[in-house]
This record gives sequence, C-alpha cells and structure tokens, in this order.
Amino acid sequence: MSQAQVLDGRAIAKAVREEVKGRVDRLRERNVIPRCAIVLLEGDEPGRLYAEQIAKSAAPLGVQIDIRQLPSEASTNDVVVAVAEAVDDKQIQAIMVQRPLPAHLDAERIAEEIDPRKDVDGAHPYNQGLLVAGETFFVPATAAAVMELLRQPQVGPLDGARAVVLGRSAVVGRPVALLLTAANATVTICHSHTKGLPAIAREGEILVAAVGHPRFVTAEMVKPGATVIDVGTNFIDGHFVGDVDHDAVAAIARLLTPVPGGVGPVTTAVLLRSVVEAAERSR
Ligand code: NAP
Repeated sequence: MSQAQVLDGRAIAKAVREEVKGRVDRLRERNVIPRCAIVLLEGDEPGRLYAEQIAKSAAPLGVQIDIRQLPSEASTNDVVVAVAEAVDDKQIQAIMVQRPLPAHLDAERIAEEIDPRKDVDGAHPYNQGLLVAGETFFVPATAAAVMELLRQPQVGPLDGARAVVLGRSAVVGRPVALLLTAANATVTICHSHTKGLPAIAREGEILVAAVGHPRFVTAEMVKPGATVIDVGTNFIDGHFVGDVDHDAVAAIARLLTPVPGGVGPVTTAVLLRSVVEAAERSR
C-alpha cells in the first residue's frame, strides 16, 4: 500500500522565517524594530509554552516579543487595561491575546480593545468581518498556517477543489472555511451536530481536521488521494497526538501533515510574518 507524502511543517516554517528575516532587515534600515505584545494569564500552560515558542523563534529574526503575564484571577477590565497599554505604545506594532481565555473573562470585550491594525491573530470583530466579506487583513494564525500548507505546490490548485473542514471554532474551523472559500474551493463545514460525517468527510479532496479529539479521523473518512491537514494537538500520555489516525490515514491520503511538526511550527512562523506586516504598515 502506498504511503502519503508528508507535508513537512518544519521545512515550510523555515522558509517563512527566512522571508521574515529579510523583511526585518529592511525594516531595521528604516530604524523600525518589529515588536509584539502577547497578553496571557498565569495558569494557561499551553498558552505560556506557545508564547515562549514564539519568542524563541522570533529572537534570531530580530523580532521582539513582549510577554505580559497577568494573574490567573485577572478581571476583564485588567486584561482590557493591559491591551490598551500595548495599543497606546508606539514601539509595539502587534498584539496577541492568548486564546482560549478562561470562562470568567469577556473575550469579545477584550478583543474589541485590540487596535485592528495591531491585531495579528485576527481576533477583533473588524478583522473577523473582513474575512466574512472575503477580504483579509489579519486572520487567526492557525488558519493562516493551514492555508500556507495548502498553498504548497504539491497540493495542487485550491480553485474548484472540494474541501471539508471538521470543526467550526472562531480560531480554526470557521476562518479556514472562509479562507478556502475565498480561494475558490467548494467548502463543507462539519461540527458536532453533523449527521453522516464520515461520508461527508470522504468527499473532501482536501480534509482539514480541527475537532480536538485524538485520532478522530479514521481511514474510512478519507478520500483516496486526499490532502489531509491535521490541526489537532492533543496531549496524551506525555506526547502530542493529532486529530487524525496518522498511520491508517497515511495509507489512503496523498499528502498528510504530521503531529508534531505540521501545523504547529507553521503557525508560529506565519504569526511572526503578521508581526512584520504590522510593523511595515505602521509607517
Ligand atoms: P474547539 O474550540 O474545541 O472546537 C472544536 C470543534 O470541533 C467545534 O466546532 C466542535 O463542534 C467540533 N467537534 C467536536 N467534537 C466533534 C465531533 N464528535 N464531531 C464533529 N465535530 C466535533 O477547538 P479548536 O480551538 O478549534 O481546536 C481544534 C484542535 O486544534 C484542538 O486539538 C486544538 O488543540 C488544536 N489547535 C492547534 C493549533 C496549532 O497551532 N497547531 C492551534 C489551535 C488549536 P461544535 O461547534 O458543534 O461544538
């Protein structure tokens, strides 16, 4: 049985970082240093690890990351004040509030405080609205990463392709579906109320899995020769497992992203590209 080719997120992320480095160098000639404030709450361990990963990738490129950690009991107003400080700071061109926020916080109110021009993770309603209108300014980094993977030449044209997105969250499923629609794919979104999901998933020449259940996508749900993007990052028994049953699906798909080493590294790289874009637009 043939094996799917791996869509190597680490290699793609490296290429994006090289592009970012060149753009940072050109900004430095204009005395602009790209700087991003990341607001997160204590106790958000995945959020802290992600922020540290971003900072680690950013440093060699000359992008500055300013992590602003608030106490776990911080109120909506406390977070709004932290965001407002970053909005007012002329040395900071980019802001990301780590999501998901704890249930006691008003995520919409906090997102509204981000200046849309600094909103590199596409959380502000203005940027969400542009995406719905088929235009893009800043979009959620994970969704941008999925599109970066799908724009690799070996994937083939998105125009006219049948795409199925599993999951409809504001940070992954919905923006991916909208971006695929803007790229002229024909898109179906599945969620927890979808009837007959395996048969619908099997229609996808492109299948994006973002449900948050380990190995949810089995070989029976995959069209032979499909491109499968596994967004899932489920921490099981000390290691990360995707939403796709990788080994079984590798025997059916043509292209498949690994976990780890697929969407994750590309997400970090495209976020840094958005930080540089914000810095370029800031002058
Ligand atoms: P989420 O907010 O929990 O959303 C999950 C989506 O999956 C929801 O739309 C839900 O449907 C749907 N779903 C859940 N169970 C289902 C089922 N049995 N059948 C069909 N649909 C089902 O999760 P998320 O934030 O989108 O994240 C999804 C996955 O991606 C997680 O594993 C997360 O860790 C990972 N992730 C990775 C990155 C990265 O950079 N690699 C970034 C963000 C997230 P309903 O809407 O009906 O509830």
